[in-house]
Amino acid sequence: SIPLGYFGGLGAASKNGILFKGASYLDEMTKVNTVVMDKTGTVTKGVFKIKEIKAIGWKEPEFMKYLMAMEEQSTHPIAKAIMDYKADGEDFQASEVSEVAGKGLKGTVNGKTVLVGNKPLMISNNIEVPSETDNIVESIVMVSIEGKFAGYVIIADELKDDAHEAINQIRESGISKIIMLSGDKDSITQQVAKEMGVDWAKGGLLPEDKLKEVEKLMSENDGRVAFIGDGINDAPVLAVSDVGIAMGGLGSDVAIETADVIIQTDQPSKIAKAIKIGRSTRRIVY
Ligand code: ADP
Ligand code: MG
Repeated sequence: SIPLGYFGGLGAASKNGILFKGASYLDEMTKVNTVVMDKTGTVTKGVFKIKEIKAIGWKEPEFMKYLMAMEEQSTHPIAKAIMDYKADGEDFQASEVSEVAGKGLKGTVNGKTVLVGNKPLMISNNIEVPSETDNIVESIVMVSIEGKFAGYVIIADELKDDAHEAINQIRESGISKIIMLSGDKDSITQQVAKEMGVDWAKGGLLPEDKLKEVEKLMSENDGRVAFIGDGINDAPVLAVSDVGIAMGGLGSDVAIETADVIIQTDQPSKIAKAIKIGRSTRRIVY
């Protein structure tokens, strides 16, 4: 194909919904030999649906009102699924809601301390988690109210339509290593990784764990690692990776601000496209 100049390269990218924040990243993109990807919102739709609700010691609608008061203040894809629930009567209001990175939310509802998130969040707050939750493979949102486990909601996500195509095309473009890192449960991460055919995957990672994994890969691969993610939890990795790629549509603002390249269409198959455009672009030497 005809080599494109930098402007041509940036233009071709933009026509494909890929925004390079500088021409230098077109070059960086051609050097990449390892692609590391986040799971939720990156290769999965991040559109969760409620599959089951289990309130423990609370009536379901009241339990859900505690949970919804918290999720109302979150932008996480999980929050949207929870907010689909219809409860009669007046909603509860949460205050002092803060995000616990990679784990969930902490806040106050009706004067009670409420935690919403995964098992590590419960464990780190000394909340006893019933063993029945161990056998659940799907994502679980656990809730504690005033220091006591109050129930859980099972939610399911699905792969994006172009998830398989994305992996195939990245491989065809000659990338030797494709890795998945997720903050979600390891069992789900491994299931998705297997279905996608990535080389290896790790789940249950906190943002700092993701960072450590990527830094290790960068030192092993001599600065040729691209990371693609969408969430607040991905921002530190997007900042340090050789090429940070963010999902621009559903992605969080920090991810978009920190990344070097933005995929405006949220399609992971655009990763391979970005590599191809980088390759057909030639530096103009004066
Ligand atoms: P990923 O790396 O898969 O995108 P995140 O780091 O965004 O995952 O989230 C890690 C985990 O923290 C989620 O899988 C979920 O269990 C929990 N979590 C985060 N935010 C929320 C929230 N608003 N409500 C419930 N759980 C949450
Ligand atoms: Mg994500």
